[in-house]
Amino acid sequence: MPPMDFQPILDDINAQLRPLLGQGGKVAGYIPALARVSPLQFGIALRTCAGETAAAGDSATRFSIQSMSKLFSLTLAIRALGETLWERIGREPSGSPFNSLVQLETERGIPRNPFINAGAIAVADRLVSMGDAKAELLALLGRLAGEPVLMDAEVARSEADTGFRNAALANFMKGFGTLDNDVATVLDVYFHQCALSMSCEQMACAAGYLCRDGRHPLAGTPVLSPAQTRRVNALMLTCGTYDAAGEFAFRIGLPCKSGVGGGIVAVVPDRLTLCVWSPALDGTGNSLLGRRALELFVEKTGLSVF
Ligand code: GLN
Repeated sequence: MPPMDFQPILDDINAQLRPLLGQGGKVAGYIPALARVSPLQFGIALRTCAGETAAAGDSATRFSIQSMSKLFSLTLAIRALGETLWERIGREPSGSPFNSLVQLETERGIPRNPFINAGAIAVADRLVSMGDAKAELLALLGRLAGEPVLMDAEVARSEADTGFRNAALANFMKGFGTLDNDVATVLDVYFHQCALSMSCEQMACAAGYLCRDGRHPLAGTPVLSPAQTRRVNALMLTCGTYDAAGEFAFRIGLPCKSGVGGGIVAVVPDRLTLCVWSPALDGTGNSLLGRRALELFVEKTGLSVF
């Protein structure tokens, strides 16, 4: 692979997109603490497998990672449980919104994949069975980012106060026997993982094991095996952006995981991890400018898995 100077590319993307801030999309209004975030922010950061970094815009500002946390809870669960994790969670794209209830009824309480809310709640249940899930997640992310990360208690409370759909999903799964633990305990973990707060720079580093066969971005020690890492990337590509996953694959062609805080992390296998953030979302709950930024990145660099 020829070396590439990424800094001017990210500067260019930032310059192109900044004038569009405030012109479309909406911040996630259904979580009051997120509804107060200014939409006029855009950040982008990447870290290569060799450890080079580049960043532009609001890349150092911490934001609520929301569903991007589902990557890391899945990583913990795969590490601890291996194949048995898949006895209660599927691996198919849902083609439905991230908080949809409908498939759960016909599929007897087994969520389609670990990246929709139902799937992540089922993963949280597995983590609760193994110990202090919140502490484990904080420890994993702190190690991966190379510095402590925080859980925003106000965001977690805000989610708990308004998380009626998530409570419905959890209760429904409990009724089918998908959850072993108390619903309130599982939801508490889920709401706190969504309330993790990180910057694009931290996220680009933390997700680094996904572009280097599962090896820790800083220490080089195994986080996941190469085979497990391929699977997480496959799930990101097919399910990481909910019912926009087909469109993301078509336009961007990179494994991605988004969150309603407006962040999206993308993996270029064997090359780099990239995180973009802008709080205004499109109708599928994915960052509008974040998506545009990833399209521009692929256009300018030609880096894509296809
Ligand atoms: N906390 C959010 C929710 O449960 C996470 C959803 C998301 O980021 N897509 O609704």
